[in-house]
Amino acid sequence: MAALTATAPADRIHVFWHEGMLNHDSGHGVFDTGMDPGFLDVLEKHPENSDRIKNMVSILKRGPISPYISWVPGRPSLLSELLSFHSPEYINELVEADRDGGKMLCTGTFLNPGSWDASLLAAGTTLSAMRHVLDGHGKISYALVRPPGHHAQPTQADGYCFLNNAGLAVQLALNSGCAKVAVVDIDVHYGNGTAEGFYRSDKVLTISLHMNHGSWGPSHPQTGSVDELGEGEGLGYNLNIPLPNGTGDQGYGHAMTELVVPAVGKFEPEMIVLVIGQDSSAFDPNGRQCLTMEGYKEIGRMVRGLADRHCRGRLLIVQEGGYHVTYSAYCLHATLEGVLNLPVSLLSDPIAYYPEDKAFAIEVIKSIKKFQKDNVPFLIQD
Ligand SMILES: [Zn+2]
Repeated sequence: MAALTATAPADRIHVFWHEGMLNHDSGHGVFDTGMDPGFLDVLEKHPENSDRIKNMVSILKRGPISPYISWVPGRPSLLSELLSFHSPEYINELVEADRDGGKMLCTGTFLNPGSWDASLLAAGTTLSAMRHVLDGHGKISYALVRPPGHHAQPTQADGYCFLNNAGLAVQLALNSGCAKVAVVDIDVHYGNGTAEGFYRSDKVLTISLHMNHGSWGPSHPQTGSVDELGEGEGLGYNLNIPLPNGTGDQGYGHAMTELVVPAVGKFEPEMIVLVIGQDSSAFDPNGRQCLTMEGYKEIGRMVRGLADRHCRGRLLIVQEGGYHVTYSAYCLHATLEGVLNLPVSLLSDPIAYYPEDKAFAIEVIKSIKKFQKDNVPFLIQD
């Protein structure tokens, strides 16, 4: 009898989805400003629009990966569930903003009619995806959700995000008996909201690979620099990996091998949450990194390896940014192919061509490694 391997056809990803999330309309204008200056004939949809997600749904339904996907309906979260991560004052602010017909909560972040219901669906759908894994109904869940969540902090919205979907799921895992959870965030932006939520905890290792964008205003005071390490008991359990603009497949692969894999190995989590944003692709309007499908696939494969080694294969994947309307879907497909450990690519890259100069990224990764070795207690210990 042949032994079951990670490539067995029985390996599936359970995708949690609810079409009500398409009803969040973040508006149009000049990119994400919501403004019409009056002198442009053609305005554009806000980058965080439903088209990007429609293509992610359709590529998983009709693309070559479809036999490996099971679809599970999402659901709205209860208000009470949100309080495990967010403050009651902040949730009240959102409820009131919805009741009043909408509000711009911060730059580029518009709660319009329909947005709140979509946000509740994104949170509840992510909680269901985590619950599915916790209850042993499947090993790998993917919450295909919008609006995104990783910038939403316990007390404020930020960067197109209202509720921290991944953070809520992590808290659910902790409350359900998971002793330690690791979060690996590859969205091109710093997962500042998730970091903030667990900044004083040694139960959650938050790791974010992002472009070096720094703070972007009052809604995003965190800088994402290497020295934001966590506080108190949480000191060392927030690892920021700001990568130089233009870092591509090889640079990201090197950062995963040198920094992420060893840190997760030392932490020994019982559950991994992979937070994905395709805005780290070479063609994203919102990012300046250069991942292609090949790079995403390799990251998926490496995180799957971590889940197999440390978490009995248990892995929750949560959707964040990714704004190129077609390439984001292709990069998602590639990421999930990697997670499935498929030996041969099912889908070829239609547009990758960007030449990568990895030398600078490798230097930066070396200096981050040295900084962490000198400053992160759990990495120093033998
Ligand atoms: Zn992003």
